[in-house]
Amino acid sequence: MVGIVVVSHSRLLAEGVAELATQMTQGKANIAIAAGVDDPENPIGTDAIAVMGAIEQVCDQDGAVVLMDLGSALLSTEMALELLDDEIRDKVALVSAPIVEGTMAASVAAAAGLSIEAVIAEASSALDVKKEHLGEENAPQAVNVVPELADDVNALSFEWDVKNPHGIHARPAAAIVGCLAPFSCDMYLEKAGQRVSAKSLNSIAKLGVRCDESITFYASGSDAQQALEAFIGLANDHFGEAEQVAKGVTAQEVLEEAPTISNDIEGALAGISVNGGIVTAPAVIFTQEMPVVPSRPFTDIQQEVAKLKHAVADVKQHLEAQAKLPHGDIFAAHAMMLADPEIAAQAEAKVSAELIAEQAWMDVMMSLAAQYQAADSQYMREREADVYDICRQVMLSLTGEKPKAITIAEPSVLLARDLMPSDVAGLDKSKVVAICLTEGGKTSHSAILARAMGIPAIVKVQSCLEQVKVGDIITVDGFSGLLWFAPTQAIQEELNSKRHEWLAAQEIALQHAQSQAVTQDGTTIHALANIGGPEDVEAAITNGAEGVGLFRTEFLFQESAELPTEDEQYIVYKEIAAAFGDKPITIRSLDVGGDKPLAAYPMPEEENPFLGQRGVRLCLKHEALFETQLRAILRAYEEQPNIQLMIPMIATVAEVKAVKALITKQCEKLGISESTLPVGIMIEVPAAVFNADALAEEVDFFSIGTNDLTQYVMAADRGNTEVAELVNYFEPAVIKAIELTIQSANRAGISVSMCGEMAGDVKATELLIGLGLRKFSASSTLIPELKQKVRSLDFALA
Ligand code: PEP
Ligand code: MG
Repeated sequence: MVGIVVVSHSRLLAEGVAELATQMTQGKANIAIAAGVDDPENPIGTDAIAVMGAIEQVCDQDGAVVLMDLGSALLSTEMALELLDDEIRDKVALVSAPIVEGTMAASVAAAAGLSIEAVIAEASSALDVKKEHLGEENAPQAVNVVPELADDVNALSFEWDVKNPHGIHARPAAAIVGCLAPFSCDMYLEKAGQRVSAKSLNSIAKLGVRCDESITFYASGSDAQQALEAFIGLANDHFGEAEQVAKGVTAQEVLEEAPTISNDIEGALAGISVNGGIVTAPAVIFTQEMPVVPSRPFTDIQQEVAKLKHAVADVKQHLEAQAKLPHGDIFAAHAMMLADPEIAAQAEAKVSAELIAEQAWMDVMMSLAAQYQAADSQYMREREADVYDICRQVMLSLTGEKPKAITIAEPSVLLARDLMPSDVAGLDKSKVVAICLTEGGKTSHSAILARAMGIPAIVKVQSCLEQVKVGDIITVDGFSGLLWFAPTQAIQEELNSKRHEWLAAQEIALQHAQSQAVTQDGTTIHALANIGGPEDVEAAITNGAEGVGLFRTEFLFQESAELPTEDEQYIVYKEIAAAFGDKPITIRSLDVGGDKPLAAYPMPEEENPFLGQRGVRLCLKHEALFETQLRAILRAYEEQPNIQLMIPMIATVAEVKAVKALITKQCEKLGISESTLPVGIMIEVPAAVFNADALAEEVDFFSIGTNDLTQYVMAADRGNTEVAELVNYFEPAVIKAIELTIQSANRAGISVSMCGEMAGDVKATELLIGLGLRKFSASSTLIPELKQKVRSLDFALA
């Protein structure tokens, strides 16, 4: 690899430049410095011997490139060359590139394994992008991303005084790009003589337009008039921030608007309780790590560009799907950043200089992040994290790496923006003693997993990532949904005693977990477990589960970038069933779509994903995917007759019949004469409740999925905290739906259970048993307490 030598009068300067280059190349470049002189009184200067040593240190068969600051640095370097052996000297090149930009470009090229000629070329053109960005005359056009107006003289223009409190930051910039996307004319925005493409989100954001500054929009070409009108309309709406502007909110007020301590609880931040428990521990903050640029050979420009385009499109599709979910505007802005033509052009230019796709992408995004980081306004500086996030997602797609697992050394409270279900599933319970998220929802899948693992958790704790620092000792009260960062002594004592009570009750419940749960008046209630995969089996058994009432197979599918094969699925199903002996295990067929995207099987975009192709609907549309799973289940059932199949999101009898037809077809293919595999359905769609009598004729059992049933009965998104009050399974309409379902099952003589989160909520146990429910399926860790609750009830007294 070509070595890089930085020669400077100042040691501090050289160290800083080397540090930056090391960071940009993730430590891959071979860099040495020769800077300053060994005189504490007068340390500024250069020394030929030191330069020679630095060259010898990094020069191998590929050679070395030397970058110098000025004056005697050049003379010392030339002298060093004379002192070097001929063999080394011939491989060393001195370049006139500016020391900071030149070192960055040279280091990146060297780290990518390019030849010394390519490294020199990169270093020499290092100033081009900057010159072009600053509009300097005669600058070589490194990347031509600012459109030339077809007809500058007749261009239409519109001047606007920006009143947005934060100026044109990422979100208004995204609104501009989105609004202008349909038009093909040349368009740009100008501020104080600086022009950028009006189609480039980052260029607009980088203009750094502040409140009360003026911008001019120019359009020229066939649909310029329409584009101008669209821009004027958007400007009059203050680029989507009319409300803030109308309220006369100042930038300072916007910063203060962010909730600090909610609900007037001094010393605490309020969120939504997801799982009970009280824990005091130091905080750790989880952010995903950036994948490392692989060291692989450059293929060719076409292939590298195609690889990059594919990865960007992949991530963009995912972000656009997320943008449709509640609070999706941030993802919409991310998707737009990804679509920025400037980023694409810069990355392609890097690939043309023979950088592999991963390195090209990393360079462009890191330099973009650095520009945001250097912005004047705090708000814009904070956008660096967005660039980092997008960069990481594309890098994951390019490298095929899975997001890094969370590793924590000592028992801690894990704070994060949000966690993927796979992040939660990989947590070490002995180290992560509580979870606190700024996003998420009570029935989001990461929350369900936290509950399944028995980790006290709260979500929607606004601003906790800003208020809490790594290492701060905090207390999470999962019962009240509070994160205490500064409790008074009296409150801390109260929390401690609440914690002791909680632990003692848990201990007693666990001692009785293996016994049956029978009410005081003699009714036996069955408690089964909800599991997500083999890793949950042990906990289910230890906690006294009488089988599995819900095996969410989607986690198997979500864990990897590739779909699990029939054999892989068959082994998992068979082994889990075997672990439970003759106790029933209910395998739910793939339930993705809605809030559960599948990386290995991208879904078509939908306006209303929760009302679209979810669960069985998706499976019936994608038969091959479904049939593979059905075959795996049928084969496992041949060996494990305790398996039963459950179909999610059933709304009609026709859907059940279609599923049964597919089962019959697969049985024939497998040579199974007639399947006795019990087939049941989830009752989680209102249509299924109203049609329960007819559905009961077709299936062997019902299981009530209160998570979805509640959201659909109440028409309130289960992940949207704005309507969290409505997402309440105690609402009379939901209770009525549950009652009707139980009655239908009883009339038809089929079994009915409940596997939604309500089943594990001991506040609901008495009510549900009163409605006739006898089978509950909940997260394993809730089972001991559920059984204790059952034992305390006496319906004879009712
Ligand atoms: C439900 O909807 O209640 C359910 C158990 O399924 P999921 O939460 O996996 O959608
Ligand atoms: Mg559901």
